[in-house]
Amino acid sequence: MTNYQMLIGGKWESGGENMQVLNPANEQVLGTVPAASAEDAQRALEAAVVAQRGWSRLTGVERGNVLRRWADLVDKHKPRLAQILSQEEGKPLAEALGEIDFGRSWLSYYAEFDRRIEGDIIPADKPNEQLWILPQPVGVVAGIIPWNYPSALTLRKAAPALIAGNALVLKPHEDTPLSALELAKLAQEAGVPDGVLSVVTGAGEIVGEALVRSPIPRLVTFTGSVETGKRIMRVAADTVKVVSLEMGGKAPFIAMDDADLESAVKTAVFSRFLNCGQVCICNERTYVHKRIADKFLSRFLEEVKQLKVGNPLAPGVQLGPKVNRQELEKVERFVEEARKGGAEVAVGGKRPGGDNFKSGYWYEPTVITNVRQDMDIMREEVFGPVIPVMEFSDFEEALSLANDSRFGLAAYLFTNDMNRILRAVRDMECGELYVNRGPGESIHGFHTGWKQSGIGGDDGKYGLEHYLQRKTVYIRYQG
Ligand code: NAD
Repeated sequence: MTNYQMLIGGKWESGGENMQVLNPANEQVLGTVPAASAEDAQRALEAAVVAQRGWSRLTGVERGNVLRRWADLVDKHKPRLAQILSQEEGKPLAEALGEIDFGRSWLSYYAEFDRRIEGDIIPADKPNEQLWILPQPVGVVAGIIPWNYPSALTLRKAAPALIAGNALVLKPHEDTPLSALELAKLAQEAGVPDGVLSVVTGAGEIVGEALVRSPIPRLVTFTGSVETGKRIMRVAADTVKVVSLEMGGKAPFIAMDDADLESAVKTAVFSRFLNCGQVCICNERTYVHKRIADKFLSRFLEEVKQLKVGNPLAPGVQLGPKVNRQELEKVERFVEEARKGGAEVAVGGKRPGGDNFKSGYWYEPTVITNVRQDMDIMREEVFGPVIPVMEFSDFEEALSLANDSRFGLAAYLFTNDMNRILRAVRDMECGELYVNRGPGESIHGFHTGWKQSGIGGDDGKYGLEHYLQRKTVYIRYQG
């Protein structure tokens, strides 16, 4: 067990009270972190103001070199980082290793923007004048992240913030602060100057709220639930900040009758049970064409029954525990409510028995049939290892069921009919559409939610844009 400190303005601090970080697989205490106060958050922001000036005056290449060194250090420490991540979040070690790579890739990708953040020189309307549109950093950025990808999301926020010349104050989730603190140690070693990156641990309602309320940050980049995102948007309005909100989803997965059935089944399973179903772009509701429904379901159940649940650090394990007790109980409620409403549990539907699962937040991979579109399990984000499966009659019905949601993050379509694919490209109400493939966005795509799934977005050139503000300059000279 390690007593971690938080990083404020380049100094590691203990703070007053501590919070425990539990391993969700066995409920043992992994470590403690400071439960920071609103004043701690404000100090980090004030240190960021000072540090950002110097950082933004470096050349892009100098900042890029720091990110490249940070990426190298992440590579060097990958096994240790993955182990800490797996233990604090509960994901299988193989997935944790993948997450470390995913996170590092943002550092190396955004480092390449060292010479690519460009402005415009455009023709002036008046004689002897120049008209420039310059990109400049927004200044101080507040980053607030959830628990499901605590390592990758730290770097998804830090890399674009820093290459653009901003300073970042990051607040990790209460349950999973260790990955961000470990990455911050490596950032210091890589040469990120004091105050350019601070990591303040503590409660969302205290530290997160203080970061959003303070007039200092000009951008809040948030990933988390819709409810918290709405709250952030309201509070940020008082100081007219830019907000980028990456929030929840209820991704539909449509399998048409002409799809490659085997590939559709395997992808539907993978895209639900990855990270114990705790991915914002997870398959949250599977819609299957009635002509293939029986075959699909029987292969689907076979695959789900074979999933290996267990100690996340053990080789071959595919599913770990849920991240905390509230999350586990939330999933149980969804299943109970669906049962009461007439749905059937085709497999799973309870906590697993046996000595290995006596402590920790375990739930069996679960498939629910006989569901209706108006049930909560079809409308609200479950974010766990539970998948409702429903039949439909034709493509039009599938499209309208898929779009019948307040969320609009990801969607999946399996078909070999080009007309249907192009109709879906035009008509699916989502920011991310996967056709005949499983989840996993590219660093140079644009990860963005439609409808109540978000505003703004991360990754690629579009994800960099809100870390910059533009200044238009009119210069008159003597002709
Ligand atoms: P959450 O909203 O409970 O917490 C997210 C962060 O917000 C945490 O750090 C928390 O401490 C902080 N917070 C809580 N109250 C706050 C407040 N009043 N002011 C400021 N910050 C506050 O979300 P969660 O349970 O950690 O994450 C799960 C959710 O995140 C799911 O809905 C999931 O879909 C979503 N998510 C979305 C994406 C995406 O890219 N769209 C990625 C991962 C997770």
